[in-house]
Amino acid sequence: METCYFCDKPFDGVKVKRHDEHIIPNAIGGKLKSSEFLCECCGGKLSVSIDSSFNEHLQVFSVLHGVSRDRGESKKAAVEVISRVTPMGGKKSVTFSLNSDFTITPDRPIYFVDEDERLATICCSIHKQAQTFMQNAEIGKLRDDGYRVVVASDMAQFVVQSALRVDLESIEVLRGLAKIAIEYALHCGVSIKDLVDFRDRFIKSCDDTELLGAVTQYYPTTDEEKLYETGKYHHEDWYPNHQLFLFSRGRDLYCYVELFGAIQKYVHLSSTYSGNPGVEKYLQKITSWNFDPAAWQGGPKDLHIMAGQLDVPFEGRTLEQVKKEVLHMAQSRPYELDSDAQLEKVEALVHTLITYAISDIKGFDAVDEMLRKAAEAKSGLGFMLVDRLKQDRLHAMKWIHKDFSSFRIRSGADSCPAVAATMSPENLQHYAAFRLYETLCSIGRENQIDFLLENS
Ligand SMILES: [Zn+2]
Repeated sequence: METCYFCDKPFDGVKVKRHDEHIIPNAIGGKLKSSEFLCECCGGKLSVSIDSSFNEHLQVFSVLHGVSRDRGESKKAAVEVISRVTPMGGKKSVTFSLNSDFTITPDRPIYFVDEDERLATICCSIHKQAQTFMQNAEIGKLRDDGYRVVVASDMAQFVVQSALRVDLESIEVLRGLAKIAIEYALHCGVSIKDLVDFRDRFIKSCDDTELLGAVTQYYPTTDEEKLYETGKYHHEDWYPNHQLFLFSRGRDLYCYVELFGAIQKYVHLSSTYSGNPGVEKYLQKITSWNFDPAAWQGGPKDLHIMAGQLDVPFEGRTLEQVKKEVLHMAQSRPYELDSDAQLEKVEALVHTLITYAISDIKGFDAVDEMLRKAAEAKSGLGFMLVDRLKQDRLHAMKWIHKDFSSFRIRSGADSCPAVAATMSPENLQHYAAFRLYETLCSIGRENQIDFLLENS
């Protein structure tokens, strides 16, 4: 583009310089950048007016998935806690944080008294404050009464339940998603003419009620989506990820935005779109691959597979040379993925399920796990494929030859955003909560932490 999409001023490299914009904010691990459509001045403005509060709302996901660890910063998220015993010493109100190492800390010193053990434990996020608190008269009295006093940097041992509050329908979150969608559309070459209306209503100003109609909750509407979305952290090798799909249906232009595998929305960018009807996709892993070459113990067969995945040539080279390059590539593997990898995964899942469902193979872990996934998808999301296969095995033929390229998109009256929009608010809310629950399952914390999904 020759002009900034926000202020319409032409780039001149002097007064109006191009801004290097992260389409998905860097603060949440976004890697896709463009310097094509925004000027430095507007980049700064939008970062303050939209990005900062958006990032703040989503910080909890960065903490859970260790994005902050990846980026060498330490982040924390506000958490509500119910403790086993009532803490003492917090005369002023105390707020609690979940840290990226999963410790829980209060922002000012509090202490827990264990009468049986005659033990007082002081907790505070700042060690120095805890040390000062040791000298406090209340603690002195306990010490005089024969209590042992210790300092702990984590109060998790006293916590019975902890809950993270998120509001995925808040204006700050919806605006952030709207900005990602419009910038991805511009990045893919959609003309600003087709996006002016959206920009004026939701980026330049903000029509709160209309925004709720433009950024809507995703819901898996087809059988392949229902299967894919159930326990997806098990089969999605690149979980958690950020995804963007730009597509049009008739004159409607949409962007599907998925963040952290947990937030999934359709953004309706235009209802008068007249441009190219193609589909553009972006898929990235959020955290680095965490590959340790020293610990790698794969044989020549694994080396072949990895070389294939990483495009390392084998011909005319020794195994040692190939291994060296493969290990180097695996370590510095980029975050961005081939979006076809996802379609291949969808197809593989469906085909495997069909094979297991119509044969009578039993007693293998992989089979049991797959059938369990299907049963879960049926009870949670109304997945019907296994039942249909049982009624009519020929039904499998249709599925074996099915083309999954319109995954989460579909055309005509069956378009995925249109069908998702017909779901009841309760169903959509239930699904959004399920995604949050799976987020906790993916990191094995579902028994320690809860999500409280707010209703706007
Ligand atoms: Zn500008």
